[in-house]
Amino acid sequence: MASGLIRLYFVTTASALTGYTGLKPPLLKQILMRLVHLCVAGLLLLSGMVVVVAFDWVTLPPQWDPRIPFEVRSEPNWFRRLQAKTISKTPEKCLAALQAYAPSVEINEGFKEAEQTSCGIETRVTLTELGGMQLKRVTTACETALSLALWVEHDIKPVFAREARQVKAIEHIGSYNCRKIYGTNRWSTHSTAQAIDITGFEFEDGTRWSLIEDWQSQPVLAELGERSCRWFRQVLGPSYNRAHANHFHLSTKSFPLCRGG
Ligand SMILES: [Zn+2]
Repeated sequence: MASGLIRLYFVTTASALTGYTGLKPPLLKQILMRLVHLCVAGLLLLSGMVVVVAFDWVTLPPQWDPRIPFEVRSEPNWFRRLQAKTISKTPEKCLAALQAYAPSVEINEGFKEAEQTSCGIETRVTLTELGGMQLKRVTTACETALSLALWVEHDIKPVFAREARQVKAIEHIGSYNCRKIYGTNRWSTHSTAQAIDITGFEFEDGTRWSLIEDWQSQPVLAELGERSCRWFRQVLGPSYNRAHANHFHLSTKSFPLCRGG
């Protein structure tokens, strides 16, 4: 019965695809069968790997070991980046990872604004510092704070260390704002604090770089904007449009778009 249904599926799929590709049904059937074999082989291989790791038959390097809990400071390979995305969507795990990195974080009760709006913050935190860098007091969503922490740790710190500059403060113009996207009827990701606007950096020697004044002369700013796309789904900066001439709009929601550099 099942094999009959699978056969029927291949025959109908192959004949449907013939119209699109111009390939003959027997050849298409062959290609589809190969794909199925590949998928089955992949699944078997993956299951084998899970069993091998679960029973401790091999020792994985810590940066690839799923049994070692995620930390903001973990090496940002693709596995840890995927883990970061999953964790940032799970309130308890997000708060635990954020607290471990920034013990000064305040955890606040979530809230929702009036019914006719989409506004509110589900997993609400308040930051005044991240990775030893000051932040003007800001209330935001945990996932935004965690993405910001990852950017601080893996991009802002090493990039400015390379430039022999020590960041004292990250300058911003806020995260939560119950408003719609300018010129549209859609709610902004700021209405749920799933975005933050970064305007520049102040250094320990008293100097500062702002996006509005130093974008052209300091290419490091564009480099940091580009690198933030690893942690945020949508990044808009001075190269995107005039509305973003003075800040990076870093959002953990919205459609994926990287215009930070
Ligand atoms: Zn913004």
